[in-house]
Formats: sequence, structure tokens, C-alpha cells
Amino acid sequence: MRSAPLPSRVLVLNSGSSSVKYQLLDMRDSSRLAVGLVERIGEESSRLKHTPLAANGGESRETAGRIADHEAALKAVAEELAKDGLGLDSPELAAIGHRVVHGGQSFTDPTVIDDSVLDEIERLIPVAPLHNPANLTGIRTAQALRPDLPQVAVFDTAFHTTMPESAARYAIDVKTADEHRIRRYGFHGTSHAYVSRETARLLGKAPDDVNVIVLHLGNGASASAVRGGRCVDTSMGLTPLEGLVMGTRSGDMDPAVIFHLMRVGGMSTDDIDTLLNKKSGLIGLCGDNDMREIRRRIDEGAEDAAPAQLAFDIYIHRLKKYIGAYYAVLGRVDAVVFTAGVGENAAPVREAAVAGLDALGLAVDGERNAVRSDEPRLVSPEGARVAVAVVPTDEELEIANQTYALVRNSNGNGNTNGQARGAGQGHA
Ligand code: ADP
Repeated sequence: MRSAPLPSRVLVLNSGSSSVKYQLLDMRDSSRLAVGLVERIGEESSRLKHTPLAANGGESRETAGRIADHEAALKAVAEELAKDGLGLDSPELAAIGHRVVHGGQSFTDPTVIDDSVLDEIERLIPVAPLHNPANLTGIRTAQALRPDLPQVAVFDTAFHTTMPESAARYAIDVKTADEHRIRRYGFHGTSHAYVSRETARLLGKAPDDVNVIVLHLGNGASASAVRGGRCVDTSMGLTPLEGLVMGTRSGDMDPAVIFHLMRVGGMSTDDIDTLLNKKSGLIGLCGDNDMREIRRRIDEGAEDAAPAQLAFDIYIHRLKKYIGAYYAVLGRVDAVVFTAGVGENAAPVREAAVAGLDALGLAVDGERNAVRSDEPRLVSPEGARVAVAVVPTDEELEIANQTYALVRNSNGNGNTNGQARGAGQGHA
């Protein structure tokens, strides 16, 4: 008698405060069966966009009109999937993988969700007030829809839990820090993990054998120093505000600016939070947070080119400081790799970030850097001492891989890519 084939599909859910992004993957070949997005949940103008990549001719479908909450959103997604024969009740669905932003120090690996895991994610809400509640709602709703199905949490912070204390601690009173769980957690970890591993593959080496500086430059941006596959430093801290100049966030700054704004500027804590998270970075400096628009203003010599140039220069200056710092942290660097919206697409950013760093073995080749492609590629000159690379990130695939690796053997030892270790293993 032949045994039934193992279920091979994984649904990846990324639940934000007012949105749900999802992808359904077939793990036999990592192909996307469907992708979609529900936006503006809770508003009159909610919108669901669903694209069944492997059914019904791949035509996108859009539905507009109020979707009251996450539960209604997930039900609507389930209905759309069912129309393509990909419903959540399918026996081919192996698991649901959830992006969870903050896993604190508790979660060092992807983890099968049970009540104690939910409690711990909830306990972490004070350090991730915007993200963890939405992630929890997504998980609970998905559990209600398919109570029998394994649900896995993949944490943005997990990859960074290998940072040594020297990198993870702020130099503040230890007792106060510990009481309030103040330390550097780092974010975008799923992307840093995926991209650093893909960079090793591009170089034809094992992840253990390479030291990589990963520059994840999207609207949010972070850098990491990865030694032999393990993160040893990253630029985001207690929250995603620290580090690089971002689309709307300031990144590094003297913390005394905050006291000054309170004492002299009369601003409230919430005002300053909004200023630094939403009205700073590129948008605060020049009114645009899209690097395409900033480059257009500079390249066309537009009337408002000067603030765009200044924003670009500040962005690059900070980036260069992190490349230098992480070079020093790692000692030996095999590759500097650019990823996410800006890193993958903005050749001038890559060129400017390594300009003048020849003495460190870093340079880009103009022709290679100008190539547009979705493939991982080298942009450094032939034979360069340190590779400069572009590796498109794929956080959904990484979440699906980690989820599938964890659940594909019922004993939790499934390990297709060396990422997922045992179920719940990292849950303190
Ligand atoms: P996030 O996931 O943080 O929202 P992404 O990684 O999708 O962000 O990156 C979005 C950013 O990428 C945009 O704000 C824009 O600045 C930049 N970007 C996208 N395409 C290009 C391009 N062709 N050239 C330059 N920058 C681009």
C-alpha cells in the first residue's frame, strides 16, 4: 500500500496593524501558488488584492469595501484561496508560518506555536507595541480557522540572538537595562539570514566559511555583520529606530536630542516618537522617502535638487560608517552585499557607499553595477579581494523554508536547510 504524499504547501502570513500580506508556497519546488494583500483593515476603504499565480490564468482579483478586522480579513483570504482550489481546508496544507517581529531573547529559532509561545509573544508587547499585537491577532485568527494545523512563528529578531553581549548591550546601568529588557535585539533577521546564506552560495562557499556585511536597504534599513553564518552585530537596537538613515526614521542620534526637544522644544513623548519614526530620515531631510524620486531630483538638476543631494549624502555617509565599523568588527570580510528595495535597485547608492574604499579591497565595476536583474550577482570587478554583491531578499521564502523544515517530520527534526532546529528549542 502506498502512503499518502506528505502535504507540501505552506501559507506565510505577515499580519501588520492594518494589513495582512500572504503567500502560499509549494515547498516541493519553492514555487508561489498565490500571493496577496489585505490593506486598510477596519476602514471603509479596505481592499483585498489576490493573485493566484498557478491557477485561473494568474489573473489578479481585487475586492473593495470594509473588512472589519483581522478575522474577517483572513476569512476573505481563505475564500479567495478556495476559489482557486487552494483553500485552507486542503489536506495539502502542511503549516502556516507567521512573521513575528519581536521574539526578545526567548526565541532563537522558528518555533511551533502553543499557548506558552503565545503568552511569551504577549509578554514582549512592551518592547514591540506596534507589531506584536497585530502578529498575535493574525496567529489567533489562523488558529481558529485551522485548529489542527501546525502554526509556526518565525521571528525577525531570532537571527540576531547570536550577538555577543558586547554588541547586544547598551552601556547603561545594567540593573535598569535588565529590569526593562533594554538591549539591542535587531530586526530584519529573516532577511539577513537568507541573504547572508545566499551570498555564501553565490561565492561557492559554505556559510560557515564566509564573513559578510549585509546591507538591507528598504524603507526600513539595517546592516549586519555575519561571521561564519552567525550574526555578530546589527544596526537596529531595542526598536527599529537605531542605525542607518531610513525612509522616515532618523537612525543613530545623540539621545540628548530627545531631552532637548522635551525641555526646549516643549514636545511630548508621542510627538518625538512620531518625529523620529515617521518624519525623519530621507523624508525629513528632503520631503521624499523614495530613493527613485531623490535620484531623479539630483540627476535632473531639479530646482529642489540641493536638499535631495544633502539627504543622499547623509544616507551614504552613515552607510559608509557602518561598512567601516563592521569591517573592523569582522576583521576579515569576504563580501559586502546589498539587498531590499534600495539595495537591489539603486546602483548610485551601491557605487557611492563603497567609493574610496579601495584600500579595504572594496570597489564596484561600473558595467556590472548598472545591470538590472532579479538574480544574485557580483558587482565588484573580476578578481576583487572582497566581493560586492546584490542578492535579492525573499523573506516569505525564508519563513516558508523555516516553517516547513520544522514541521515536515512530525518529530520536529525536519531540517532541509540547516535553519530550523527543534520545535520550541529556542523557547526559554
Ligand atoms: P519595505 O519592505 O521596507 O517597505 P522595500 O524593500 O520594498 O521596503 O523598499 C522600498 C524602497 O525601495 C522604496 O521606498 C524606494 O526608496 C526603493 N526603491 C524601489 N525601487 C527602486 C528603484 N528602482 N531605484 C531606487 N530605489 C528604489
